[in-house]
Order: sequence, then C-alpha cells, then structure tokens
Amino acid sequence: MTAASGPLRSASDIAAGVRTGELSALEVLDDHLARIALRESEIHAFNHLTEEAARAAAADIDRRVAAGEDPGPLAGVPVAIKDNLCTSGVPTTCSSKILEGWLPPYDATVVTRLAAAGAVAVGKTNLDEFAMGSSTENSAFGPTRNPHDTTRVPGGSSGGSAAAVAAGFAPLALGSDTGGSIRQPASLCGVVGVKPTYGTVSRLGLVAFGSSLDQVGPFSTTVADAALALEVMGGHDPGDSTSLPQPFPSVSDHLDDGVDGLRVGIVTEMMGEGIAPDVAARVRAAADALAAAGAEVDEVSVPAVAFGLSAYYLVAPAEASSNLARYDGVRYGLRIEAATTGEMMELTRTAGFGDEVKRRIMLGTYALSAGYYEAFYGKALKVRTLIRRDFDAAYERFDVLLSPTSPTTAFPFGDKTADPLQMYLNDICTIPTNLAGHPAMSVPFGAGDDGLPVGVQVLAPALGEVAMFRTAAALEAAAVPVAATTEGSAS
Ligand code: GLN
Repeated sequence: MTAASGPLRSASDIAAGVRTGELSALEVLDDHLARIALRESEIHAFNHLTEEAARAAAADIDRRVAAGEDPGPLAGVPVAIKDNLCTSGVPTTCSSKILEGWLPPYDATVVTRLAAAGAVAVGKTNLDEFAMGSSTENSAFGPTRNPHDTTRVPGGSSGGSAAAVAAGFAPLALGSDTGGSIRQPASLCGVVGVKPTYGTVSRLGLVAFGSSLDQVGPFSTTVADAALALEVMGGHDPGDSTSLPQPFPSVSDHLDDGVDGLRVGIVTEMMGEGIAPDVAARVRAAADALAAAGAEVDEVSVPAVAFGLSAYYLVAPAEASSNLARYDGVRYGLRIEAATTGEMMELTRTAGFGDEVKRRIMLGTYALSAGYYEAFYGKALKVRTLIRRDFDAAYERFDVLLSPTSPTTAFPFGDKTADPLQMYLNDICTIPTNLAGHPAMSVPFGAGDDGLPVGVQVLAPALGEVAMFRTAAALEAAAVPVAATTEGSAS
C-alpha cells in the first residue's frame, strides 16, 4: 500500500474528478486506506473494515467511467457507515455484545442509495452501545479517540463516524441522531453534521432506538458535501412508514444564496447556565458574522426547551425499552443457553447489554408501567407538544435559530462516566430539535480556549433545510478552520 500522499479532498471534489476520469476511484480509496492504516490503531473509529469489498466497488467505478458511463454524484467517494445501519452480510453490532455474530440479510435504504450514487463503503464505525451516550465510552469494543486530541472523547453516539471524517479516513460518513448523536460529535471533532427533518431520510435498516426521534444524517468536511449526501439519501421510501412522500428539499442549489435579509434568532435559553463562556463567545461571533453578511440577528426566548432533557429521558428510554425487547437470545446474535427459555433470555440480556443500555431499559419500563404512565410518559408527551409550540412561535419571527451545539469542547475520557446526568447534559442544546421533529446542523466555527473545535448549531422549522443550509454556508465562509492532524504522530 502506498503512503497517504494525496491531499484531503471533499466528497464533491472526489466525485467530480472520478466522473471525468481525472481521478481513479481505486487510487482515492487506497489513499484513504493508507490514512486509516497509519492512524486507526490510535483512533479506533471503526468496528469493522470492508477493504476487499471497497476495492471491488472502486474498481467497478473506474471500469464504468472508462466505458463512458456515469457512476453518479458520489462516484468513488469513500464513505464510513455507523455500525447501527444494516449492511448485508457485513457485521452490524451497534457496538453491543448482544448482536455478536449477527449478519443482516439486507442493506439499509441509505446504504443502498449511497452505493447506487457511486459511493464506496469502507467500514462500520464505532458508537455508544445502541446509540446511547455522548462520548463512545459506552461501546462494548472500547472508545474512539478524538483526532484533534487523543486524550479527549470524540463525542457520541456517532463518535466513530465523526472521528473518521476528522481524521481523513473518509470524506463522508453516516450517523444517526436521536438526541444529538450526529451534531454533538460533529461539533467536538470539528466537522459538519446534519440531523434532517423527521421523515425526510429513510430509517429502513437503521437499528431502532427511539423511533419517534431517530433520524439518519451525514458527516462531512464541507456544507456542500452534507447537502449532496442528503439529496442522494433522502426522499420517499415506501419501506419506512414514517417517510414523507416527497423528495429531499433541493438545498445544493441555494448554498450561494447568502443570508441577506434572513432573520436569525439566538436562543436565549441555550446561551446561559451550563454553557461554557468560550463556546457562547463563538456563537456570538457566528451571529456577528451572519449580521455582517446581511442577516437580521436578534435574541429569542424558546422557554419550553428548558424541559427538553427531562422529557427526552422519559420518551427515549420508553421507546428504547420497547424496541430493545427483540434482543431475546432467540432472533438475533448472542444466546446464553439455560434450562428454561425464561432463564436463557435473562442470562442473554444480562450478559449482552452494557450498563447504560440496562439503565435506559429500566427507566423506560418504569415510565410506561401502570400507575406511572400518566405521571411520567404522558406528561413528557405534553411537554413535547409545548416545545414544538414554542419553536413554532419563534419561527413566526425568525427563519433560523442559532445556539451552541454542545455546551463544551471535547472533554477528557472518564470525565463524565461516573455520573450519567453529567453525560446527559451534553445534549441540552440538541435534544429539543428531535422532540420537535425539526432539522438542525452543526457547523465548525473556530476553537475554544483549549484550541479544540467549537460547533455552532443552526436550527430550522420542519422542512426548513434550505434556510438552514444557506446559514451554514455563510458560517462556513466566515469560519477559521481548526485543522485536525491527519498524520500519525511519528510524522
Ligand atoms: N446522547 C443522547 C443519548 O444518550 C443522544 C443519543 C443519540 O442521539 N442517539 O440518548
């Protein structure tokens, strides 16, 4: 294998070069595999690499280009896939021991669509077990490290995907976002991450966590790449009953529209208590940059978002406790044999699930149980409605909202593992969007006092992706990039 010598290119640049025959998909792949070989043992972004299948796919792309065909808008683009998205015949573990040995019989729709557009899957990325967490420290296979500082977490739950993009292992990666699992790691790793409007991207083949909240979305180094990926993956899928019967909003066409006259509201409740001053300062700098580009910026109160975390930690565990009931030792993966079926299930679930997953199952089962349902789950649903209403009121006056993505920059390993609540507090700015079903994205906007990346969150109303991406593109143009080291420490 040759050393990683090529420049780090965006997905759009790679696809443009491969489609014209200027770049070879196989060479592009080898370059990324070389970068993986150099640094993966230190980063641990992947649970599983699919080098051989990737080589075959890349060679096929090159053959098709040589034959005069167009392999599609992502021709030859290496892509990393979060290990809770089904890949036919390729291990899909959710970073849990309970799925040990299970091979999905089909590809997730998003995986199929990326491949059909010419993308080349390089492997499955690490996550917090079943996407429950904010640091990848809940993975049964060990944590992923942040490429900017390997003593720090990459965020989570899609930490492997965020780190893969930040380390130059792939220009594009897929994640899932139930309460912030795309946006928060994107923020901590200094890359772009998008949670699209609920229903715009298929979840067929996404292992379910909280079904009323889960969405699939991209990680990339540029705003344009995220737009391209969503346009390829999004749009109606008859195999997902929550899929909206319409194409993904056409965002790429509007990236150069600018923000002149766009009304931008800074969310008051997401700028005070719990937010590190250096992070809040970056959000204010982002707002200033947007104002300088012609946007009308003001503060706006969205009062009910203050209850987002409390509502989420009833709704999400309730849905998880139901979704995870299927791992019973009969249908998937791990089975610990025992004298009776009941005992077999108990032993299997005890051995197969980690502590955080068990905590969520117990929380959810409790919240749904007779006598507590109204007081907990029912109440949380009412709060969810209030959050949506407060956002609706804000969006009568503003086209998009602005906030920090994460309250701090990347934190050291072990910092928040002793107290689950401290870990949960990572998501105070991201969770309300999931409860509302709205889109939101994290855009890198410089560094905090520690020199580590800070992400600014752009929030928009349902199907407001065009305004959201216009804002993100303007922020990208104004931001000072924070480069992750993509070389091994030896070089
Ligand atoms: N960190 C949040 C949780 O632990 C969100 C996770 C996610 O979005 N999948 O539930």
